[in-house]
Amino acid sequence: MHHSRGANLQAVKWQNRSVALETLWQHQPISRKDLAERTHLTAATVTNIIGEFVAAGIVHEIGPGEPGRGRRPTLLAFVDGTACLMGVNLSRTELSIAVFDLVLNCHYHITHPITTRTSGGAAETLIDLIRDAISASRIDPQRLVGIGVSSPGPLSVNEGVIYAPPQFAEWSNLPLGKLLTQAFKLPVWLENDANANALAEHWLGAGQPYNNFIYVESHSGVGSGIILGGRLFTGSAGVAAEIGHTSIDRNGPRCPCGNYGCVELYSSGPAVVQMIRAAHSAGSPTRLTAVAGAALERLTFDQVLEAALAGDDLAGRVIESAACSLALGIVNAINLIDPQAVIIGHKLNRVGELALAPMREVIQQQTIPQAAARLNVLAGSLEGPVGVTGAACRALSGIFQEPNLLLRSFSLAG
Ligand SMILES: [Zn+2]
Repeated sequence: MHHSRGANLQAVKWQNRSVALETLWQHQPISRKDLAERTHLTAATVTNIIGEFVAAGIVHEIGPGEPGRGRRPTLLAFVDGTACLMGVNLSRTELSIAVFDLVLNCHYHITHPITTRTSGGAAETLIDLIRDAISASRIDPQRLVGIGVSSPGPLSVNEGVIYAPPQFAEWSNLPLGKLLTQAFKLPVWLENDANANALAEHWLGAGQPYNNFIYVESHSGVGSGIILGGRLFTGSAGVAAEIGHTSIDRNGPRCPCGNYGCVELYSSGPAVVQMIRAAHSAGSPTRLTAVAGAALERLTFDQVLEAALAGDDLAGRVIESAACSLALGIVNAINLIDPQAVIIGHKLNRVGELALAPMREVIQQQTIPQAAARLNVLAGSLEGPVGVTGAACRALSGIFQEPNLLLRSFSLAG
């Protein structure tokens, strides 16, 4: 396709702005000189772009940096409290809404049961609850620059539609992106929850030192996200990184995804609960009967994790088994991607080495040796509410791709 020279120049200008904004965010406070070095932009380009950000009131100078050999450079940082982002997380049990500033400090957070209805259906309720959260947080609505929404998949990132995740009927096929954009006149980014959480680990957690890693989490399902070259890898249809739906037993049970013997069937929270119940009814003793009933009828994944940490033998063995099954899926992914690290997020990271040690063993024994040699397997380290933080990160990455959204909100022309 032929582009005019003018259009190309404009595209390059936007691209430079985008790179400068993201690099500034990751390394602030930073001098203009360091920013130029890290972005490979010329000093003049950096000076121009920073001039725009300063004029828009997003970035300011915060005085000299560390003493060096020469003159101490002026450092640049984001201005506190200029712009805000919303993070919205839908899970099978909860609906969480939070307000963050541009550097992702959380200023307000509220969680409702997913079954909450104010009036009408699921989408109308979500809009009401976001409105309530905006007023309860006491932020100036004019400062809101975007909304990130994370949800179990499958979903369409481009269309902003959640398809039909299991046990999520009321949200199926809702054009959530469009509905929220209409209601709030703001850009909305919908993302698979595990992808959003992988991005959060990359920017704020255990993934900060790595540009290539696999993030895996296990709760009501098994989710994962892949960071490649410092970017979220989402595939061509937005369904990449479904490690939970790689098969580890072709003779195993049928999975709702269509495959047989998927990792998720052996390592999700519900799978763990089922395994504990089966072992208990076959005669294995467990202290879990004290909290979950004589037939473990009220058993939850959280209770199993707590019991494993408290030394319950059955809980420990089943968690180890789930971790080993999950590790088999991870081995397949490592052999495909050759990452620097594997990060285990919620909720298995809660039991630490009880899950990580058996996973490391499987990974070391069964991965191509060269890929396993320098691989780190570690627990996710996000603090605070994971789901909404991931959603806010997704919104922020959208803003990095289109810095005009930020500049425009603060009345500077693109
Ligand atoms: Zn499956």
